[in-house]
Amino acid sequence: MSRIAVIGAGWAGAACAWQLSQQGHEVTVFESSPTLGGRARRVQATWGTIDNGQHLLIGAYTQTLELMTALGLAPEQRFHRQELRFQSLDQTFSFGYWPLPAPWHQLGAIWGSRGLGWKDKLALLKLMSHLKKQRWQPPVGQTVAQLLTQCGQSPLLIERLWQPLCIAALNTPINEACAQIFAAVLRDSLGSGRHSTQLLIPLKDMTQLWVQQALQDIPYHTGTPIQKLQYDAQQRLLLFSQKPHHALAQPFDCCVIATQVPPAVRLLQSLETSTHAQQEVLSTLKEIRFNPIATLYLQPEFAWTLPTPMSMLYEDHARRHYGQWVFNHAALPTSFAQNTISIVISDAAALKAQDKATVTAALIEQLQSQLPRGQHPLPPIVDSMLITEQRATFWASPQLKRPKANSPWPGIYFAADWVDSDYPAVLEGAVRSGLSTAKLIHTALSDAPSRG
Ligand SMILES: Cc1cc2nc3c(=O)[nH]c(=O)nc-3n(C[C@H](O)[C@H](O)[C@H](O)COP(=O)(O)OP(=O)(O)OC[C@H]3O[C@@H](n4cnc5c(N)ncnc54)[C@H](O)[C@@H]3O)c2cc1C
Repeated sequence: MSRIAVIGAGWAGAACAWQLSQQGHEVTVFESSPTLGGRARRVQATWGTIDNGQHLLIGAYTQTLELMTALGLAPEQRFHRQELRFQSLDQTFSFGYWPLPAPWHQLGAIWGSRGLGWKDKLALLKLMSHLKKQRWQPPVGQTVAQLLTQCGQSPLLIERLWQPLCIAALNTPINEACAQIFAAVLRDSLGSGRHSTQLLIPLKDMTQLWVQQALQDIPYHTGTPIQKLQYDAQQRLLLFSQKPHHALAQPFDCCVIATQVPPAVRLLQSLETSTHAQQEVLSTLKEIRFNPIATLYLQPEFAWTLPTPMSMLYEDHARRHYGQWVFNHAALPTSFAQNTISIVISDAAALKAQDKATVTAALIEQLQSQLPRGQHPLPPIVDSMLITEQRATFWASPQLKRPKANSPWPGIYFAADWVDSDYPAVLEGAVRSGLSTAKLIHTALSDAPSRG
């Protein structure tokens, strides 16, 4: 049995730790924060539990859903599942799949959309068949904007559909976003069966959804930031934290770095960097850029129900109307955050220079101004919380380079959404990375001669 340390208990670290322990290894998890889940974690607001950001999954997140099933957590009870539908709050625009079996569901999208002309609908089909012909592999270096122009997408279609979709999935604007990563998202969503395109809104908070359960039989230490790594005489790994801990005193056969990029760089820099491959990985990591996501949580005086749990908002930056999506948990009968409204702002760099009170007031005004006719007015807001994750996701540009899971440092592996794959920085990417790194380690340890 090998001793393995996993540093970081986000979705990648938790998936990796669980898979390794299933394979019979002795795993210990170290997490700097007091809460499990990483960038998808529970936060306590004055009025109840919320998350650090409103997360959304899709049916194509197969490895996450399989993992939850293996943990005995029936996804059907932990998500609100609905057909894909992008509907503006004011009801002037709607794009979605009708509940028809594949491939008819794609035609359903064409017939079932509002606010798009015939030319737009045909252009949309053209783009999808163009990508399919390219096997969802646009040329290296192409941006999403270039892809959209090449396939004759109108400004309306770009503004109403492609830009919001690209920002939501890649957290990068179309002019800078990588067409290959965007195509992978389309392949697994709009380009796949109806089940893959369905939207899954969590009914449990993100820590409780599955991470807590996955780690219940694995020793984990929260509030324990690992600050330094070192090899002992047998090339085993020693971990150092300011917090003295029995588990830290023992050497590990290998170590999974499942942190965000900056702490990963610091941990690697605490080791000797002697080879060209090691220097290359460090400079790859240092070149990764990030983009913020902000979420405004509102507590209305009483539960207030919108027609759908999730609606699109129109942006108008001149009026500080930065909101892109509104989620109304009161429309989800069993949501953990029943009395909460959340407004999501991806690509949120514009908020940096503004104070919270001004942004909050402007977003509330945006919500009020786009309510559909006949909708009950927004109740008085009694409390609010604006959470901005400055390094929410990496900047998914065509120039982005990502390191492989097996690092050039002996015994050190990576598991995170930033590890090389065709996915953007999303939950499924993190889970896939965690599971595949665990399998990689298991194979490497099985092949290695024992240390005696
Ligand atoms: C606001 C927001 C909204 C999002 N919305 C969506 C969405 O709707 N759908 C979707 O699919 N994705 C979404 N994402 C992206 C998704 O949350 C991430 O891709 C995913 O959570 C990354 O998981 P990870 O395990 O790779 O990294 P992380 O979750 O960042 O985990 C890294 C962990 O390492 C810990 N750590 C760091 N340094 C140390 C150290 N020195 N010692 C010990 N522990 C350490 C951290 O505390 C953290 O817990 C969103 C992200 C944000 C921020």
